[in-house]
Amino acid sequence: MSVTYLDIFTKLHNYYGDQEWWPAETTLEMMVGAILVQNTAWTNVEKALKLLMPYLDAALLRNMPTEQLEQLIRPSGFFRLKTKRLQAFLEWYFTYNFDHKQLNQHGTATLREELLTIYGIGPETADSILLYACNRPVFVVDAYLRRLMTRIGFDLPSSYEAIRQQFEQVLPLDVQLFNEFHALIVTHAKTHCKKKPICEGCPLVDSCQRRFIKENNHYED
Ligand code: SF4
Repeated sequence: MSVTYLDIFTKLHNYYGDQEWWPAETTLEMMVGAILVQNTAWTNVEKALKLLMPYLDAALLRNMPTEQLEQLIRPSGFFRLKTKRLQAFLEWYFTYNFDHKQLNQHGTATLREELLTIYGIGPETADSILLYACNRPVFVVDAYLRRLMTRIGFDLPSSYEAIRQQFEQVLPLDVQLFNEFHALIVTHAKTHCKKKPICEGCPLVDSCQRRFIKENNHYED
């Protein structure tokens, strides 16, 4: 492949511009959103966050009765499971007195290791929190990235960790770059490179092999 990951970023950025992620007013809202967005569309998270907004204080949420929290986050789906995950996350955050400055005194590897031990926090959620709430240069891998890069013609490793490490080795370790790159991939996956891609007008069309896309544009996973 003559095209590089950085070329892809540049083309997407030139086309879509700054994405200014994560869409949240506070770090707590960001972290809660990262948990609620698991297995659902962002529009459902927005509905839950709207209900949660008057209570968006870590201590308040930690002390909230389970049934109340369940009802507030219900629009995000899997609400009982996500309540447990949110509560587990808040217990961990409580060990830092809900103080982001205390949390940020720790190294990225330590925080990542801790996040991954929390019930229901997988690598994508942990890395989103590290990147968007803690400003750490951690590359977030998701299904959109895998689909896009595979279609373009990159042979990605199969595991989450290997893909993350590959991007972090090839790209400059830059928080702003990683922040924008992940956001741009999500935007592109929702605009052009959908399950059934809209290749006409795509900013990557000259760099893309359109692998696994049949003539009728149906995508083969
Ligand atoms: S050309 Fe088509 S398959 Fe390739 S990135 Fe663009 S939308 Fe996706």
